[in-house]
Amino acid sequence: MTTENRSLYSQLPATDRLLRDARFSPLLETWGHTQVVTVLQQLQQAARHAIRDTGALPAWCNDWAGQAQAQLVAQNAPALRAVINLSGTVLHTNLGRAQQADEAIAAVTQAMRHPVTLEYDLDGAGRGHRDQALAALLCELTGAEDACIVNNNAAAVLLMLAATSSGREVVVSRGELVEIGGAFRIPDVMRQAGCQLVEVGTTNRTHLKDYRSALSDQTALLMKVHTSNYHVEGFTKAVDEAELAQLGETCGVPVITDLGSGSLVDFSQYGLPKEPVVRDLIRAGVSLVSFSGDKLLGGPQAGIIVGKKALIEKLQQHPLKRALRADKMTLAALDATLRLYRHPETLAQRLPTLRLLTRSADEIHAQATRLAPHFQARFGERFAVTVEPCLSQIGSGSLPVDRLSSAAITLTPHNGRGSELQALARALRDLPVPVIGRLYDGRLWLDLRCLDADTSLMEMLLK
Ligand SMILES: *Cc1c(COP(=O)(O)O)cnc(C)c1O
Repeated sequence: MTTENRSLYSQLPATDRLLRDARFSPLLETWGHTQVVTVLQQLQQAARHAIRDTGALPAWCNDWAGQAQAQLVAQNAPALRAVINLSGTVLHTNLGRAQQADEAIAAVTQAMRHPVTLEYDLDGAGRGHRDQALAALLCELTGAEDACIVNNNAAAVLLMLAATSSGREVVVSRGELVEIGGAFRIPDVMRQAGCQLVEVGTTNRTHLKDYRSALSDQTALLMKVHTSNYHVEGFTKAVDEAELAQLGETCGVPVITDLGSGSLVDFSQYGLPKEPVVRDLIRAGVSLVSFSGDKLLGGPQAGIIVGKKALIEKLQQHPLKRALRADKMTLAALDATLRLYRHPETLAQRLPTLRLLTRSADEIHAQATRLAPHFQARFGERFAVTVEPCLSQIGSGSLPVDRLSSAAITLTPHNGRGSELQALARALRDLPVPVIGRLYDGRLWLDLRCLDADTSLMEMLLK
């Protein structure tokens, strides 16, 4: 150790002395003695390393309180931070998919704060099962006989297969052996559920006779999987649920469908791309249909299975159900969300997912025109700011080919550099409420489709 370094080390203030400094009182007040001391120890360590490595005190050593404050703020940021989603994808899986309706938020708060009748029947003062109350509502909305609710749709598919196939064969078209993302691939889920996958047809064409000739005394199920995230075009043929259900009926084999997103209402009535409606599949005779709570339905993360009473009974009694069941907050939010569907006249206003999806390109364009000057004022020196038409994606497994007309504010660096764009994207992510855009074609695109309630916040951020 050099004499010079030794004198630098001796300049580092002792923890006790810092804690007595008046500038530390507000920190102690807010974060408490334990956290403040821990941070000071970390800072002292960092300062010692800096002296060792650079032979100088780091610049922040003239403001220990300021540095500790910054550190404490950063350490205490919540793990899940609210952001503004201008990515152009409405149901963005990495941003938590559906934004919840006010009614759902209120219901969750209630369920968190008070004891609730989760598995308690007020009439008989006995024990009910936790899906019972919601099952009635789901049956009303889908025409099914009964319902079962689990943690997400991947869990729903696993449970359907495990509980109704008993290790036997499940027949699926080669055109529907999908990978949804992450580890969810139909053949792998089959293996985990303990059933034998029997592939029929080809990638582009599968006929009813393919399913028929695969039937044997080992067949437990015929299965359809919604091809959520890709589209096969050209010389194609798939067997629809109604045809398959008829075959299943004749042969005494249940037909199950993993619908992925699915919808409880016909989206085409709102001018949106047509998505399969759960009620239609039940009417077509499908025995079990599973779908997500936080995709087009617009509720909390959940997997919902509706269908025949006898099969739902099997799911409810399977040991996996206990492991995959939804918690009271999920059920409360789902219940409140489903109730909104009873009032179709106000659904597009009250359900945020539908409200965002149905915003018109004109309205979004007008909003972009209003906001563009704020971006011009803040970033105009280095970026060309323009308002452009663009296409939003629904996201979360609605056909990637289906896009919605929208409008974006775009920022193009005057110097054309990619690094300049990256720095801009980072600056927006570093705002007190981070703004998430999309880099494409040498610009940053901020699609305003999902900015229906946050306009004033945005103006504030850009001040
Ligand atoms: C999204 C999707 C899943 C997975 O649903 P999660 O709710 O995300 O678990 C499964 N199957 C299909 C067809 C999907 O689109």
